[in-house]
Amino acid sequence: MSAGRATVAVDLPGEWVGLPACSRAVLEMAEAELATSDWRASLDVSRAVRVSVPEDATWGPALRAYSGALSIRAVTETRGAPLTTVLPWWECASAEIPPGRMALRRLRECGEAGIPARLVDLDLWSGADLAGALDFYLTCPTLETPIEPWHSLAVAVSGGSPCDLWHAEAAVVGSSVYIAAQGLATLSARLARHGQWFGGWDETWERWRCSALWRELEGHRRALFLMRTDCAFCPAFPWCGGFWTVPGADDRMHCEAWRGLVARLVAVAYEAMAPGPGGADPVGT
Ligand code: SF4
Repeated sequence: MSAGRATVAVDLPGEWVGLPACSRAVLEMAEAELATSDWRASLDVSRAVRVSVPEDATWGPALRAYSGALSIRAVTETRGAPLTTVLPWWECASAEIPPGRMALRRLRECGEAGIPARLVDLDLWSGADLAGALDFYLTCPTLETPIEPWHSLAVAVSGGSPCDLWHAEAAVVGSSVYIAAQGLATLSARLARHGQWFGGWDETWERWRCSALWRELEGHRRALFLMRTDCAFCPAFPWCGGFWTVPGADDRMHCEAWRGLVARLVAVAYEAMAPGPGGADPVGT
């Protein structure tokens, strides 16, 4: 997050913040803002709100006090405290696992506690840790809860609902928006880190749609094939969608790693789907 550790990401339906066309809005807020913000007044507790909480946030206990029936998802961080420091595990709808030294340990803790987990900020994960997380997902014999994005992608690979990394990450142009702490709008935290913006938070949706970034994102897939880029010939494309070659945030290192990870996911899924012993569970959970 651009404003350092004293920020929180609040993930809620776009209509709650005046963006009815948008199913998902993520707002970066400063700690002080969180305590006073209007969004809490309009909460409908039957609907999910996701609040990403740094593990060592001083306002953790206060957040817990009004969590109620909300789906508040705890973020685990790289500090030494255990997962349950932020929220007791039975209050966790799911845990978000950011990259870092403790990430794989946190992932195993989630698996053991039966908490669904999601790897966040994928572009900040090392290829080795992504591979470790996938290995855990595919090989842990006692895992009963999903780990995203692997689970959605594995379902897609196995012939279930189509899903690529854009959808697994819920970063789809036209239905997701990310409002950074400095008041600028973009598609996701990754694009915010690369300084790619639709425009100011106070500008209209129509104006954002006219921005260069919006138009590039909308035309991204088509351009990949028209220009015969590597993505057009990549076997991972159905489950990636050119995620790592997005304009302004081209990331060849993760592109290379992703090809290998998808190849492994596909191989395991196909093996599981093959007739015969061990072919009953194509997603490996
Ligand atoms: S893995 Fe790389 S080359 Fe393949 S579709 Fe994704 S971004 Fe394109």
